[in-house]
Amino acid sequence: SHIIELQNVWKRYETGGEVVEALKDVDFHTDPGEFVSVMGPSGSGKSTMLNVLGLLDTPTEGTVLLDDRDVTDLSDREMTARRKEFIGFIFQSFHLIPTLSALENVEVPTLFGDDPAARERATTLLERVGLGDRLDHRPDQLSGGQKQRVAIARALINEPRILLADEPTGNLDQETGRSVLDLFDEIRREDDVAIVAVTHDPQLSDYTDRTVELVDGRIQ
Ligand code: ADP
Ligand code: ADP
Repeated sequence: SHIIELQNVWKRYETGGEVVEALKDVDFHTDPGEFVSVMGPSGSGKSTMLNVLGLLDTPTEGTVLLDDRDVTDLSDREMTARRKEFIGFIFQSFHLIPTLSALENVEVPTLFGDDPAARERATTLLERVGLGDRLDHRPDQLSGGQKQRVAIARALINEPRILLADEPTGNLDQETGRSVLDLFDEIRREDDVAIVAVTHDPQLSDYTDRTVELVDGRIQ
């Protein structure tokens, strides 16, 4: 069964009397262990789709199913709880906190959960992404690829079922990007996590099961 599914999703924005249809009748689903990329020109709705999948934004029309449950009309509070339980986020520019160590950055999503095992889990995850000897380094002491590995460890700390990535290799050279994609491949196979990545990077097609193309808010 699908871990997340969009059914007939429309997203309209109204700004100053003008209506923009960012998503038009989008049907999409992904399964555990699958790696899907979303491509398309600028303004085609990729970020909007990622925000809807990430429960950061709700559709104007249509249905969002998470683990076969309709989450379209949940309260903000319930939405936040589902997001924390199910979804990890990875960004082009890493979004690490510059004053915190690698280890502390990985722990950030747990800080308000008062989880005594968090430090141990964060350490294990950093070892897994190859940064066991960089636990106390701050982001400015790490390379781009290392920063993205810290961000991946952070995204995994709450054991999500879905990873959503926005241009995950966009700030990395080709070889470093490839090593990050190798890590994605390992994660989806070993953890059975679904990965959805918005990208312009043609390298991703060496790794993904399929590519979805958005043009003007519609899946082609
Ligand atoms: P992409 O990520 O493919 O560049 P977006 O999802 O960011 O596309 O945007 C799709 C369309 O929706 C664009 O026309 C954009 O200007 C519009 N849009 C996105 N977010 C907003 C918003 N918050 N308010 C108004 N229009 C928006
Ligand atoms: P990422 O969000 O993938 O890390 P960037 O931070 O470089 O990538 O932002 C990508 C694009 O999205 C930029 O054009 C930026 O202006 C825009 N952007 C990022 N965050 C926001 C936000 N909170 N609201 C509106 N636009 C944003």
